[in-house]
Amino acid sequence: MSYVTIENINKSFNDQQVLHNLNLAFEEGEFVTLLGPSGCGKSTLLRILAGLTTPEAGIIKIDGKDVTNVKPKDRKVGMVFQSYALFPNMTVEENIAFGLKMQKMNKEVIAKKVSRMIELVELKGKEKAYPRELSGGQQQRVALARSLVTEPKVLLLDEPLSALDAQIRKNLQKLLRSLQQELNMTTVLVTHDQEEAMAVSDRIYILNAGHIAQEGKPHDIYTRPANEFVARFIGNYN
Ligand code: ADP
Ligand code: MG
Repeated sequence: MSYVTIENINKSFNDQQVLHNLNLAFEEGEFVTLLGPSGCGKSTLLRILAGLTTPEAGIIKIDGKDVTNVKPKDRKVGMVFQSYALFPNMTVEENIAFGLKMQKMNKEVIAKKVSRMIELVELKGKEKAYPRELSGGQQQRVALARSLVTEPKVLLLDEPLSALDAQIRKNLQKLLRSLQQELNMTTVLVTHDQEEAMAVSDRIYILNAGHIAQEGKPHDIYTRPANEFVARFIGNYN
């Protein structure tokens, strides 16, 4: 059985159905991307997976357990958004340590975990800096570290790199991919950027207006688009 399954999910907002009976499955340690144009329902689907939005129908399972009615904090998922939402009055290391302090973890263990995370996201020397003293890319690496340090079983990323410059975005894509492989985390990335999806994913789901337009490995989607929507969308690099 797959590590994460999303079964027959339906969702409407004010009479408008935005997700149509969706079925997806992610394997343990897999990097999956939900790719599609703005408004196609990517964020809604990710929020349902995180437990931040309730579906009208359907079941979410993580590691064989039905979590459809489980609170976000008990789902063992980590989430990183486009807007970094760091705590402005805390330093880099305080930001990263925050979640562990809430769990009342031992101080020495926290310090060890935080310092390893800072190394992994390449922020050594910035431990005492405040978010306002960091670039956008550095802030997003803190956000990533803050999420990863809690060791989520599933990492959910909603356009985490979209606000960044092209070169920084490319570097962070590489970093994301190597972190994901090192920590063997099941990762679900939401993006509207075809190039980003192709660069980082083991597998891609292409969404169109709340339906799955195609699912497959990047190379297969690129060489054999299943329909005109996919062909146009993939062909339209920005
Ligand atoms: P994406 O992330 O792919 O851009 P979203 O999941 O954010 O798409 O949105 C899908 C559709 O659902 C859009 O038409 C959007 O306007 C609508 N929508 C999303 N969230 C809400 C909400 N809280 N209330 C009403 N409509 C919403
Ligand atoms: Mg979105």
